[in-house]
Amino acid sequence: METMKAMILKDYNVFEKVQIPKPVIEKPDEILIKVLVCSICGTDKNVSSKPGTGKSKIGMVLGHEIVGEVAEIGPAVTTFKVGDRVVVNPNSYCGVCANCKAGYRNHCSNMELMGLSVQGGFAEYVKSYERMVFHISEKVPLNKAAFAEPLSCMLNGYSRLDITPGETCVVFGCGPIGVMFAQLAQRNGARVLAVEPNETRRAIAEKSGVKTLAPTPDLKDVLIAEWGRRANFCIDAAGGQLGEAINAAEYRGTILCFAAPRQITDANFSPIQSKELKIMGSFIINDSMHKAVTVLESDILNLDPLITHVLPLEEVGHGIELMKSGEGMEIILNVAERN
Ligand SMILES: [Zn+2]
Ligand SMILES: [Zn+2]
Repeated sequence: METMKAMILKDYNVFEKVQIPKPVIEKPDEILIKVLVCSICGTDKNVSSKPGTGKSKIGMVLGHEIVGEVAEIGPAVTTFKVGDRVVVNPNSYCGVCANCKAGYRNHCSNMELMGLSVQGGFAEYVKSYERMVFHISEKVPLNKAAFAEPLSCMLNGYSRLDITPGETCVVFGCGPIGVMFAQLAQRNGARVLAVEPNETRRAIAEKSGVKTLAPTPDLKDVLIAEWGRRANFCIDAAGGQLGEAINAAEYRGTILCFAAPRQITDANFSPIQSKELKIMGSFIINDSMHKAVTVLESDILNLDPLITHVLPLEEVGHGIELMKSGEGMEIILNVAERN
């Protein structure tokens, strides 16, 4: 049996380098992918460090934001060949359950989650299915291609909004997702402000061309001073900001809960009715991976400033510490040491 290098979650906050069996193609539509880079997601940080949030992932190989190269294909695969540069939608849907058939493939009842329920990308190889794998041009640098998965989650949310030139938009949170929302809304002609408590993150967002401010109880007044009105769109890319968003929203404004609103005890919900607000959520990826690939290939977002660290696979634990301290933003594990 062939083995491969992988980093397993040995215990909460502890990763260990191990040799595990290299995945073997079992189903005809499977694709074996050699992982080139894998970026660390907030999900990896959360599940590896917090007992009690979600199921225990001890003993698992985490990681789902991969860029790779096709290493082997199952006999039924027709659209890929060995050596193709690819990115992956890590949430494999079945295509036949009631939710899939209704078009809610991101709510598949038989979902396999790479790096959460099946082996993930903090390893030399990972397995997926032809329907979940997407070509990406080799002209996109590997570190930038690593944004494909978070960008496609973001685009699933963004596509539910209807941001047009001349509108105003507040983004809560200047992590990679928040900054991508802010940049894209700006590209669509909106005036954008991003709210973020962490100074390092604000500086990175500013460097990428996004105007930022620290959280303030007077946000609504700041917006009126700046724009003459409140925000037509509020995007919560931080989580727990629904109360703030309700305050900051203009009449008939739209609020997108990209991150979970969590439990709110002190928010005033009355303006939902009096300001005629629309509140919506978005959840992982649904038919947005091909758009993410196109956005990356046409290079319309300024992502380089967001990449703060490129580390070897072995340093995944260090990378997660950098995320926790707020020092790290987009942290990329250079698994194949090719870039
Ligand atoms: Zn992710
Ligand atoms: Zn399904």
